[in-house]
Amino acid sequence: MLLYYKDVTPDDVAIVSPMDLGGLRSDEYLAVNPQGKMPALACRDEDELVPESDTIARFLGGKFDSGGAFAPPAGSTLALKADRLARHHDIYLAPIQGCLYKASPAGQAYGAFPTRAAALDEFQAQLQLIERYADAGGPYLCGPEPSQADCALFPTLIFAADMLPKFGREFTVGPITKKWFEMLKTSDPIGRRIYEEVHGALEGWAAKGRWDTIHGAGLRDAEATLFDKIVSGDIPSEKVYEDDLCLAFKDVAPCAPVHILLIPKHRNDLSQLRKAQPEHVGVLGHLMAKAGAVAEAAGLDDYRVVVNDGEGAGQTVFHLHVHIIGGRELSWPPG
Ligand code: 5GP
Repeated sequence: MLLYYKDVTPDDVAIVSPMDLGGLRSDEYLAVNPQGKMPALACRDEDELVPESDTIARFLGGKFDSGGAFAPPAGSTLALKADRLARHHDIYLAPIQGCLYKASPAGQAYGAFPTRAAALDEFQAQLQLIERYADAGGPYLCGPEPSQADCALFPTLIFAADMLPKFGREFTVGPITKKWFEMLKTSDPIGRRIYEEVHGALEGWAAKGRWDTIHGAGLRDAEATLFDKIVSGDIPSEKVYEDDLCLAFKDVAPCAPVHILLIPKHRNDLSQLRKAQPEHVGVLGHLMAKAGAVAEAAGLDDYRVVVNDGEGAGQTVFHLHVHIIGGRELSWPPG
């Protein structure tokens, strides 16, 4: 976006896909950016390698002085606001943006968040803060000229506006942010160009069914389960433990003196164990980690922890749950 505002030609700065260098993990790309992430800038004149968009943008903003100021005057309030917003983007939005499109993250792909739902909650909360940090005077985020704040946030917000509804979420931002977003999208020529590029690419991906395999977007079993209704309180239960991620309650038809069911509060497509995806690792670990404490609180010394997976194994409720059974002699093998 900065390159477009500055009217920089491909002779000055060539945009090359990492795929042309063999991909993000190729030796050639890693020589440019050892983090294996996009974007990175290789400078001819300075013989320098520059990773990270904010650094690249600051450098190019200073190097190409046509096309208006990129940063408000140093030391001004607007400069402070532009800095703050660009940082807000890089620190609080960009690291969890993967929750908007990644199908099968490895490990903790959403920063510190164990589930996509939790990361989406945080992402949406962080979008609201743009409103607090923007300059109300407009029309750009930090005054009369486009700045690094617009260039950092606009493409991300196009992404958010397109992707949040795929996960059943609304793209909601404050009134100043909304006015700015619509202005760039519809009447600023560079904004429109960026919108068409990003939105167009996402539409192309959607047409190829790219989101259909992503849990929470294309892949859903949206019908409320019996246990969803227990979580919402529509069906009463005798709760024995509850936290942000899980709920434990007494089984209505106990097969032992103590029979507790421990379930994830947000099923997140986890109707049964075989549906587990990398994004479920956090909640599955949490259930296992809590089972012992729930059993101990129920006065159990020795107990059995069971997950029935599939009708043939006795599963009747298709919302993953852990049985905690004890209070009598338990034979082995089970029937
Ligand atoms: P599954 O057979 O799917 O492994 O386990 C489902 C468990 O849910 C069964 O042990 C069954 O007794 C229990 N269950 C079914 N309906 C209800 C209900 O409405 N309330 C409670 N507390 N447990 C239920």
